[in-house]
Amino acid sequence: MARRKKIYEGKAKILYEGPEPGTIVQYFKDDATAFNAEKRDVIEGKGVLNNRLSEFFMNGLNAVGVPTHFIRRLNMREQLVRSCEIIPLEVIVRNYAAGSLSKRLGLEEGTQLPRPIVEYCFKDDALGDPLVTEEHIAAFGWASQQDMDDILSLALRVNDFLSGVMLAVGIRLVDFKIEIGRVYEGDFQRLVVADEISPDSCRLWDIETGQKLDKDVFRRDLGNLTDAYSEVARRLGVLPKNASPMSKPTLIN
Ligand code: UDP
Repeated sequence: MARRKKIYEGKAKILYEGPEPGTIVQYFKDDATAFNAEKRDVIEGKGVLNNRLSEFFMNGLNAVGVPTHFIRRLNMREQLVRSCEIIPLEVIVRNYAAGSLSKRLGLEEGTQLPRPIVEYCFKDDALGDPLVTEEHIAAFGWASQQDMDDILSLALRVNDFLSGVMLAVGIRLVDFKIEIGRVYEGDFQRLVVADEISPDSCRLWDIETGQKLDKDVFRRDLGNLTDAYSEVARRLGVLPKNASPMSKPTLIN
């Protein structure tokens, strides 16, 4: 059998050519990186958990009418997605102050924001993904005004959906990052939520205890990352309730 073609290898995922035109296979690695890849480690089981959690969120979004690139999960580490042209922006939505916003504006982490705040960063590792405004986006042609209206609406719908899903299992959605892709249908283009949605790209705090259940556990050396992600998966029903945090993830199909 011919070896499948690798299209791209990123920090946490590998993209392969899919079985049909217009499809891509996303392979979730166990690699964890932070601070623009200055800190790195291999965390056994992380890729398996993120594959399954991203499937859960993307399926939920599709079910409530928010378009995503997700087609179906193929196996423990891979999912089939629609190929799309990624807009070179990280779209960040914040409900509570944390991370770079807290630093930039001197806000205590956990301060509730008056309303969700949407920010854009230019996707460029060499530059450290700098914050940009809609002025930059328009001037450099990264997205049109119509795209920006659609991106804002998608980002807020994802925020409402994810906040609700998390609240139902006692988790506060502090902030998250999504990426947006263009898919072409004949002469038309449509924007869809792409890449992944997982604890790698969200800040998730236990509502009662404030315990961090996201990648900050790795960034700030707060404990075992797989345990934190397993806890999120268990609460959402993606992992069996009685799965031991120390055992390897067992998936419910
Ligand atoms: N984020 C991400 N990838 C990035 C930058 C940020 O997934 O390259 C997520 C991050 O996990 C958090 C949110 O976006 O949920 C806001 O991150 P922030 O700007 O506070 O940056 P950080 O403090 O993580 O550097």
